[in-house]
Amino acid sequence: MPITEEIFAAFLKCETKAYLKYSSTLGAQSELSQWRQHQQKEYREACRKLLCSALHAPPFVGTPDLQTLKGQRFDLILDYIVAHGDIHACLDALALSRGKRAKLDCPYTPIRFVPSERLSTDDKLMLAFDAVALSKVYGRTPRAGRIIHGRNQTVATVALFPLLGRIQRVLRAVNDQQTKAVQPTLVLNKHCAECEFQSRCRQVAMQKDDLSLLTSLSPRSGKGRTKKEFSQCSNSPTRSGLRDVRHLRPQSITPH
Ligand code: SF4
Repeated sequence: MPITEEIFAAFLKCETKAYLKYSSTLGAQSELSQWRQHQQKEYREACRKLLCSALHAPPFVGTPDLQTLKGQRFDLILDYIVAHGDIHACLDALALSRGKRAKLDCPYTPIRFVPSERLSTDDKLMLAFDAVALSKVYGRTPRAGRIIHGRNQTVATVALFPLLGRIQRVLRAVNDQQTKAVQPTLVLNKHCAECEFQSRCRQVAMQKDDLSLLTSLSPRSGKGRTKKEFSQCSNSPTRSGLRDVRHLRPQSITPH
């Protein structure tokens, strides 16, 4: 089974979550998770508009064939899908760089849209996952990617090469998990409060009679976090000084 973006992201949060998704276990979305999805959808639209407003020609929406991609006809490609062997991903955007260096490396820069103000290590790893997925098709890996994030749509540049070793290790671990098909030991974590498998894991904890697990899975923790995050985030990101997709003014990020 291919490693999808969804399973990779789940594995970064929790091995049990990745296993449950892989085995098609049904979960129930929490209020916080639903709100996040809604926020992501709105933020995505705002970022797409922002990128498109900087172009003189319309972007390509979809997945051009390899010949067209290598022909470098489009400055911006949205919703590029990679379905190549063991990796499946949908990239938010690919921006073409026409610089001399880009001719030697991959000329496309993957871009991700992340609503939160502060970028997490997982955000950067997901961007690196996009880059690895693109390299499967293009044959070269981009050196850097960009994340547009926060209400001011700040553009952060992320060096990707230092993250590639970690991506390969996670890909091997996910592949190993799928091959062996053995359910991982339940390890609760801070993601549980918004996880769709919270009820299922609570039941497991009850069966184990592990009170510490039950405390960690209290629905209160999820509600408290929701209120806090609602007050910190905006669903209507404002426009920043982004003017040209080829001249994004980055805020450099050092990978963790
Ligand atoms: S509820 Fe927690 S332990 Fe269970 S799958 Fe989700 S994140 Fe993992």
